Amino acid sequence: MKVTFWGVRGSIAAPGRTTAEFGGNTSCVQIQSGNDLFIMDSGTGIRELGRSLLAAGEPVKATMLLSHSHWDHIQGFPFFAPLLFEGNEFTILGPQEHSERLNGILAGQMQYRYFPLTLDQLAADIRYQELREEALQIGSTMVSTHYLNHTSMALAYKLTAGGRTIVYATDNEPFTQQPRAWDSADSRKFMHKGDEALASFIRGADILILDSQYTMHEYPKRIGWGHGTPDYALDIAIASGVGTLVLFHHEPTRIDTALSVVEQLAQKRAAEEAPDLEVIAAAEGMTLDLDEIHAGELSAPERRLPEFHSKVRIAIVGARDDFMRISWKALAQDHYEVVAVNDLGSFESAKQANFQPHLVLLEYGLEGWDPHAREIMQRESKHHVPVICSIPAGNFEYAQDAFDQGAADVIIEPFAPVQLRSRVDSWLMRTGIAVDRRVRGRQTDGHAQTVATGR
Ligand SMILES: [Zn+2]
Ligand SMILES: [Zn+2]
Repeated sequence: MKVTFWGVRGSIAAPGRTTAEFGGNTSCVQIQSGNDLFIMDSGTGIRELGRSLLAAGEPVKATMLLSHSHWDHIQGFPFFAPLLFEGNEFTILGPQEHSERLNGILAGQMQYRYFPLTLDQLAADIRYQELREEALQIGSTMVSTHYLNHTSMALAYKLTAGGRTIVYATDNEPFTQQPRAWDSADSRKFMHKGDEALASFIRGADILILDSQYTMHEYPKRIGWGHGTPDYALDIAIASGVGTLVLFHHEPTRIDTALSVVEQLAQKRAAEEAPDLEVIAAAEGMTLDLDEIHAGELSAPERRLPEFHSKVRIAIVGARDDFMRISWKALAQDHYEVVAVNDLGSFESAKQANFQPHLVLLEYGLEGWDPHAREIMQRESKHHVPVICSIPAGNFEYAQDAFDQGAADVIIEPFAPVQLRSRVDSWLMRTGIAVDRRVRGRQTDGHAQTVATGR
């Protein structure tokens, strides 16, 4: 497998003399896996990749794997010249959303108002496929996916072929917001199940390309923005025993000299804690080569369709005004039917009145409230209804306790409404619950409703 970096910057392209060494283009990585060509994201870096593919003079056949649809990951798409020519073939894969289709999202940024060509004017043969957390075989490569902690639904991709594994995981924020994501250097067990799950998805990868946008000093002011730090990337890489960690999605304001320092500090920590781990900061034009070691048998499990609903039902159970306000803001989407209650008795009444939630968002860590909250967690998890607990900042003992009681996930304050929404959307998909978008198109009412609101 061979990896080539065409765009390594996060958020927005940052061209100029001060970023020329690492490069100013946004996310795009080429992975050649045997005869299969994969393109990870289509940020502005994809334009040069397109020119290089056309220069080879052969028809282009590739699989594009989109992490999510934020601008810095799709803005180069309309400028990817191979899309303009008949005879070229693309399969574009990206996260399945409850509210919109993948091709609709890409067409959106090419509307008349924003771009001179529409999506359906592209002459290449383009297929779209939407993914949840799953594994599928593409050519001789196994591709598996895992949800990240971001401000929209985003997928990490793991590509395995010829005995080698590469993971591409951007944009992702630590689940715990702690300087060290694990308990101790001896156990390296993560405090949050989300970090633990990501580490086990990555385990044993030869190359890990991971979001490292902010330094540890910048991060406290960027909590909830959906990005990580080199230190968190190191925690994950060390715990999951990867060969090479590539720091990726660089902060646009980080000039070359500063980025070199970030890289050296990360290398220093790796040398002290995990001497076998190689750490490099991604740079435009950089390539990494992996020899094939053995071609083991690959087989993807059978694909399972989600259960479709015209709307998904969510219960918000909380007491504090702040929590109710932010949750309501996050979940007032027309694909949800939301019931918000500010006492536990009302939750039971709503259930008796036949409101069976697909997901419960539960405030946890309140005085006099927790025994009953625990009961809810235990009962709902027994019925495979995911419960996401919100806990006050810094109270990790509640996080641990919530997981022990059966909570599927814990979100720690402060969090952004979009981050909560993306966690809820991802958990619904993970549980096999999706919104039937055909039904949605015909609906006109289109608003979340409340049965018993907070004060
Ligand atoms: Zn990004
Ligand atoms: Zn993003």
